[in-house]
Amino acid sequence: MKIAILSRNSSLYSTQRLVEAAEKLGHKAIIVDHLKCTIELEKKSPRIFYQGEYLDDIDAVIPRIGATVTFYGTAVVRQFEMMNIFSAVASQALINSRDKLRSLQILAASGVGLPKTVFTNYTKDIDHVIESVGGAPLILKLLEGTQGLGVVLAETKNAANSVIEAFNGLKARVIAQQFIKESGGADIRAFVVDGRVVGAMKRQGKEGEFRSNLHRGGSAELIELSNEEELTALKATKAMGLGVAGVDMLQSNNGPLVLEVNSSPGLEGIESATNIDIAKEIIKYLERNV
Ligand code: ADP
Repeated sequence: MKIAILSRNSSLYSTQRLVEAAEKLGHKAIIVDHLKCTIELEKKSPRIFYQGEYLDDIDAVIPRIGATVTFYGTAVVRQFEMMNIFSAVASQALINSRDKLRSLQILAASGVGLPKTVFTNYTKDIDHVIESVGGAPLILKLLEGTQGLGVVLAETKNAANSVIEAFNGLKARVIAQQFIKESGGADIRAFVVDGRVVGAMKRQGKEGEFRSNLHRGGSAELIELSNEEELTALKATKAMGLGVAGVDMLQSNNGPLVLEVNSSPGLEGIESATNIDIAKEIIKYLERNV
């Protein structure tokens, strides 16, 4: 196979590992910067022009699209799909996963557990929002945040009020969420490929930090998922329509609660925590579908 890895940066760990795993399994891998692809549309002959030539001999693509370039990145993935080239992550699933609210709606409909979440169009009735998620302490999240930035723990009702007012004043949309205290600053990430959990880790925030993101200084270790956690991760991935996904869950007194399903999950944290060759699992998934 000739595999195109859609990535803006060839030196990233995940990009390099995918190239390495593809070559090890006897395939050819190229890195394609999706922002430098030109999309050509014409009756029945969709094409992509890249670095002076047409990409017309690709068998499969692995999108690694950053959150800031979702619009153009997914357009490129969709173009590959129109050329009947298999994508490890479908363009529509990628788009849905990038919209926090839409994702939570899809997940809620699928029946997986979620922390209770409330979203409004800049309502003035902030008291109702706070009460709906169980009062203080509560979590407030910027709709556009990633890597734990824009996630706030409001300890009191007054603090929550001020933060919501401040965000709304800046016309930044914010969601309110029930604070799951018993998760103790930890979450679990299940890495799903082709309907199977291929690795899982538990991430713990640094001392005094409720956010467990590795980008925020958290640490990770290998974890064996319970049956319920595994089923939840698979159900969430299926509902989102993703072939490759990182499912983040909180361990609560009422079982696993899904926080988010990531469509370009990083490989570095999970591979070093689990010692599992996740990149190889992704390439084998392509092999089964091309
Ligand atoms: P991002 O997408 O920016 O990583 P998340 O929603 O995943 O934002 O939140 C970042 C971290 O904050 C999570 O990994 C988790 O540790 C913590 N967290 C998020 N939501 C809650 C919640 N409702 N209750 C308790 N902790 C939470």
